[in-house]
Amino acid sequence: MQFGDLVQEMCLIPALAGHETPMIKYLHSAFTPHADQVTVDKAGNVIAKIAGTDPAAPSVMVFAHMDQLGLVVRKISEDGFIRVERLGGVPEKVLPGLRVQVLSEDGDPVPGVIGLKAHHATGAEEKYKVIPYQDLYIDVGAASSCEVRNLGIEVGCPVVYEPSFQVLTGGRISGTSLDDRGGCAILVKLAEQARVQRPAATLYLVGTVQEEFNLRGAQVAANVIKPDLAISLDLVVAGDTPDLKDRSDLRLGGGPAMSMYSFHGRGTLNGTIPHPRLVQLAKEAASRAGVPLQRSAMVGILTDSAYVQLVGDGIPVIDLGFPARYTHTPIEVCQLSDLEGLFRLVWEMVWALAPGMDLSRL
Ligand SMILES: [Zn+2]
Repeated sequence: MQFGDLVQEMCLIPALAGHETPMIKYLHSAFTPHADQVTVDKAGNVIAKIAGTDPAAPSVMVFAHMDQLGLVVRKISEDGFIRVERLGGVPEKVLPGLRVQVLSEDGDPVPGVIGLKAHHATGAEEKYKVIPYQDLYIDVGAASSCEVRNLGIEVGCPVVYEPSFQVLTGGRISGTSLDDRGGCAILVKLAEQARVQRPAATLYLVGTVQEEFNLRGAQVAANVIKPDLAISLDLVVAGDTPDLKDRSDLRLGGGPAMSMYSFHGRGTLNGTIPHPRLVQLAKEAASRAGVPLQRSAMVGILTDSAYVQLVGDGIPVIDLGFPARYTHTPIEVCQLSDLEGLFRLVWEMVWALAPGMDLSRL
């Protein structure tokens, strides 16, 4: 399957953090024809093992998160409106007027819209205000709480942006949850490739859970696998829109990127500074593969690699990503050639792993 088709299929699967079952099933069956063994740990991480040809080569875990951000039903009003909590970094600015899917207790999608006070009745002073999520409500068309409950909707049910995917011009695509179905698509491509051309290193491809919630789902998989090194695949924030020009030179179409520094100071106090040996590995692999390699250094970003690096006596990690615009909105945009470039870069890195590789800090 082509990259675009693969990403499209996955963008259309609703999988709020903690409710990843549809994506767990999808990746499990996508890995199965290619891997020696596919397991799902108790947290829900899908782990595909592809044994290398040389047991002395370092083992590598390549991972991407399967979950997405969204909302959770907080209260169902007597008059049939649904109030919500945020789950993950949902920008409140984009919510009013959106189409959403509420997933029933049985996982059935129920279409709904996020209401916004009729424009004709909106006062001048209200027009430029961001409405806090606590004041927003979802309308599924029901006239009473009874009608809502008859649809199988209860407190705690997940809500996601209506899944969508669009092909734009210039080889660019837009969709819900390109973060991180783009990374998941690369995992599937790596599994396909490793079946036809088995590397020396044992490869673990992992779809992780709960990244958008508490970032720690991948930690469980790393504890199970205990790899010698780990590579995280996620988006990096492109700086090529009019509002981000001074932030970075990262651009769509410029190739994949490695993150040199990420940090989130609000509450979590975590981040990732890549292991220097893996930076070297990525640079060399990029030049061998003829893939341009961009760089990212940005506060306000955090991926699950920050927790993977702290497992056991330390796992060398690096964050690799594809540039994306409008992150965490329903219309994230990225470029297919960057996804392909990231795939080639990671494959080249995996291929280069050989016995005796120095992963020390000395
Ligand atoms: Zn992500």
